[in-house]
Amino acid sequence: MKNGNSRLRIFCLQGLDPFYSPIMDLSDMESTGRTILHLDMDAFFAAVEQQDHPQWRGKPLVVGADPKGGKGRGVVSTCSYEARVYGIRSAMPISTAYRLCPTAVYVLPRGGRYAQVSRQIMSLLRDYSPDVEQISIDEAFLDITSTQKLFGGAEALARQIKSQINEKTKLTASVGIAPNKFTAKIASDLRKPDGLVIVKADELLTFLAPLEISRLWGAGPKTVPQLQAMGIYTIGDMARYSQQQLFERLGQPGLHFWRLANGIDDRPVGGAADAKSISRETTFEHDIDDNEQMRDCLFYLCDDLAYEMRKKRLRGRTVTLKIRLDDFSTFSRSQTFDHGTDNSDEMFQRISELFQSFDRGGKCVRLLGVAMSHLQQGVGQMDLFAENDEKRDRMDRVMDQVRKKFGMDAIHRASLLKKRRDSGWIRE
Ligand SMILES: [Mg+2]
Repeated sequence: MKNGNSRLRIFCLQGLDPFYSPIMDLSDMESTGRTILHLDMDAFFAAVEQQDHPQWRGKPLVVGADPKGGKGRGVVSTCSYEARVYGIRSAMPISTAYRLCPTAVYVLPRGGRYAQVSRQIMSLLRDYSPDVEQISIDEAFLDITSTQKLFGGAEALARQIKSQINEKTKLTASVGIAPNKFTAKIASDLRKPDGLVIVKADELLTFLAPLEISRLWGAGPKTVPQLQAMGIYTIGDMARYSQQQLFERLGQPGLHFWRLANGIDDRPVGGAADAKSISRETTFEHDIDDNEQMRDCLFYLCDDLAYEMRKKRLRGRTVTLKIRLDDFSTFSRSQTFDHGTDNSDEMFQRISELFQSFDRGGKCVRLLGVAMSHLQQGVGQMDLFAENDEKRDRMDRVMDQVRKKFGMDAIHRASLLKKRRDSGWIRE
């Protein structure tokens, strides 16, 4: 737009997200007949710590910032179920947690170790479906539509996954199965820990109707009172409104809510096979306003994405920044290189430029994502690069070796890691 460089193509696609299509025809409501499984590990970081340290089992345990005797800054990342009895929750200030239970075991996160266990779990999931979409360190969607019969049905498949995970890691997982992603995610959360909830297609609306609207994806502390003022307390209340009414009262998010309340969510499970693009994204526990924190997050996402690309011997020519603001408007900005790259710094530099030129109009940010597309497989390392780039590539390879040995977080820049601990990068 403002840049005359012909190599640089920036475009804005508000409406990329399948939820943001115009008001829909009811004929779209026909069931697609899919079976989607959502898996979420229970109190993941805390459970890994208790597994690795038998002396901490059965005790209240908090993974997060250093409480420093109640004066510490930062937040709780995850806490054990024993700590929840005291009212401690994820994302709570660590000083509050300390006040609630000073005798709990407080530990700093060990990102490398959690990543190691996560890889073990994710690789196990691929035995059950080729379509696995990892959405965070301890959560994944599987499309089991075509594979469930191989395991004797969806329930048997889910039980087998849970027992396999337990056998390999001694950890428990909760599973939800439903005809779409958002319902599967709600279902996995209902009977934690060690839960299994199955929602069949013909039960979808009756399952959703009595649930509180805060369970709808996107209904946060700001939106819920607004909805309640309209007499909407449950998902069923929401479903009784027309699309038009919700659009008039709430704008685009109203349409998004209407679709979810009516059990409509066509988002596919994004597997890695035949990927036309590869991406990483993070939804913040709380919408954020701090540019520096966002840049840190983008650095992490680029670094993680580039690492994945190097493992798969992929290079990409187009880098895309995705931003979702607190009002759910979603934007993307892209730049195309004249060569393929898998280099973290190069990707981050371009993403930073895109980020700096994006005007969020004072709004807070809910989600950040980074994607690479126009992928090429197995391009030689040195053929396109100048000496500087060779050095950078060598650095990436050294870092990769360390990661292979010690896990992803072993080698992130120290300052970044500290910020990740202190800020709201939360895992439930
Ligand atoms: Mg979890």
